[in-house]
Amino acid sequence: MSWLHDMALINSLYIVAFALFIYGLMQMRGPRTAVAGNWVAAAGMGLAVAATLLIEGMGNWLLIGLGIAIGTVISIPAAYRVKMTAMPQMVALFNGLGGGAIALISWAQFRDTAGYAHEPVHAVIASLFAALVGSISFWGSLVAYAKLQELLPGRPMTLGRAQQPVNLAMIVAAVAAAIVITTGGASGWWMIALLAAAAVVGLIVVLPIGGADMPVVISLLNALTGLSAAAKGIALDNTALIVAGMIVGASGSILTSLMAQAMNRSIPAIIAGGFGGGTTTPSSSGGSDRPIRSTSAADTAIQLAYASKVVVVPGYGMAVAQAQHAVKEIATLLEAKNIDVSFAIHPVAGRMPGHMNVLLAEADVAYDQLTELDESNSAFPQTDVTLVIGANDVINPAAETDPASPIYGMPILTVHHSQSVIVIKRSMSPGFAGIDNDLYYNPKTTMLFNDAKTATTDIVEELKQL
Ligand code: NDP
Repeated sequence: MSWLHDMALINSLYIVAFALFIYGLMQMRGPRTAVAGNWVAAAGMGLAVAATLLIEGMGNWLLIGLGIAIGTVISIPAAYRVKMTAMPQMVALFNGLGGGAIALISWAQFRDTAGYAHEPVHAVIASLFAALVGSISFWGSLVAYAKLQELLPGRPMTLGRAQQPVNLAMIVAAVAAAIVITTGGASGWWMIALLAAAAVVGLIVVLPIGGADMPVVISLLNALTGLSAAAKGIALDNTALIVAGMIVGASGSILTSLMAQAMNRSIPAIIAGGFGGGTTTPSSSGGSDRPIRSTSAADTAIQLAYASKVVVVPGYGMAVAQAQHAVKEIATLLEAKNIDVSFAIHPVAGRMPGHMNVLLAEADVAYDQLTELDESNSAFPQTDVTLVIGANDVINPAAETDPASPIYGMPILTVHHSQSVIVIKRSMSPGFAGIDNDLYYNPKTTMLFNDAKTATTDIVEELKQL
């Protein structure tokens, strides 16, 4: 069976695996094909792992079997049990473990080769890069996980004035340890120093970032894990690691950049921290004493039932309240009355990319009822009632009118152009950006103060009586 260990066969299997990764990723571009895409990419990963195990002299089969068994026992129940709203922290944890594994492999290789004594320079540099970035990604991802899981406070936690000097000192220490190691045959303590300094960087870079900014940071850390895996692939001369790492690195970087653009924030500004997670800034036109109009579920149902065109704008509050099924029921009842109903989806509504799409798909809302930003904005002037469910920042006109606002320049859903707006939320509390919303004081707007699930369930009951 020596043909089984032939590198030509193994490389051919890798190529099939890469094709499956890329095809799977392409299918993940739309909600209809995303589930199949996940399976295709997972099959690609299974094939890549199987091909790697065929490499001659793979090693200790007992340990490999034990590792696979532990990973399977932990990850399958975790993946089944996780709630949709807890998905960002799950991704953070799994991604962080990838970075940690890469850092440990670099350490094991350091020990196996007596401190990279006879390794080619390019392999040593790639391995040290992988150790450094993998360790940053592991510790940074653990902080992101702990913040989102509320094991650590979501608010920014900084070292104050010491923050930047400590950051810089740790980066210098890690790079200095890496330089000593490249000279060959260095003591194992240098590798430990490098991993420890990188760990501190990972911790203190992520701690000052507000909990709600975490999805962007997780995507960034994901990209870093991909890059460290690709570097490790170069060090170990393993094509599968190089290609898989580059795919993760590239897609993670693109996702990070798209999320930052949709929030109109730069990545350095997000890393600098201090935004979101609870700070409250009044809008420049301020004045929370201004009058607002509030309404009831019964009046909302009547207003909706007499409309010709209704647009639903879901946001973070719908996700927290898990109101999507009641929202779908409202849409079905209105459609039965020949009312045109659509859902306007902002790219950063909620707390993770595609958050609203996933929830609405779970409630069986037809994909062609969802409209993106531009299409939604051109439809608002012809809309009789816009029903906002737990959205705030993504409909805040300050993004267009107030240059002093932290969200100025962020593209918004211009719901204020519709004939009337009903906003369901519990109070006048701000959203993620911590700013007041002028829309609530607009004479076209009425507020339905309640939990999104209770309010939408009440509206369903009222609509059934009409
Ligand atoms: P916001 O965070 O702006 O507002 C959510 C609103 O929901 C709050 O004002 C809150 O008001 C209300 N709410 C909370 N719980 C409930 C509940 N149980 N029932 C009813 N209402 C509730 O959400 P948006 O979706 O409008 O905006 C998303 C924000 O998150 C943007 O600023 C975006 O930049 C940011 N972000 C998005 C990411 C993404 O990938 N999607 C990633 C990171 C950040 P009240 O307390 O009064 O009920």
